[in-house]
Amino acid sequence: MGDAAGGGDRWARLPAALEDDCGTCGGTGRTPNPRWQAWHRRAGELVAVAQAARRAHELRAVAPGAAGGAPGGAPGAPGEPGEPAIVAAVDRAIDDHMRARPAEPEEETCAACKGMGRELTSAGRLLADLLVRHGFVRNA
Ligand SMILES: [Zn+2]
Repeated sequence: MGDAAGGGDRWARLPAALEDDCGTCGGTGRTPNPRWQAWHRRAGELVAVAQAARRAHELRAVAPGAAGGAPGGAPGAPGEPGEPAIVAAVDRAIDDHMRARPAEPEEETCAACKGMGRELTSAGRLLADLLVRHGFVRNA
């Protein structure tokens, strides 16, 4: 009896030795679509550019006031009309990018594990081969 219980324990660990998290998807059963990854990367870049353009514009807008009563004419003028145009251009680029989202889903079923998230270890493959040889495996 005690022996059987011990045996059960040992066998309970067997599945863990036979399969492992899928190395391709890390066990999630899903892989990110590369076109979506590229889209997200580009979106992040555009947002960073927009933030930088806005910050530059704000700094320039604040600078003359912070300088106090400078008697001369405002020298910041040349940059002034250009900055909002850049901000608007980047905003437009972001809008275009939002509309250019890939049509396919963001994630695909992992081709390596067919969505199981698990793959056979080398021991698992040996066992599977053995079961096939003995006619135990049903090909679902
Ligand atoms: Zn996988």
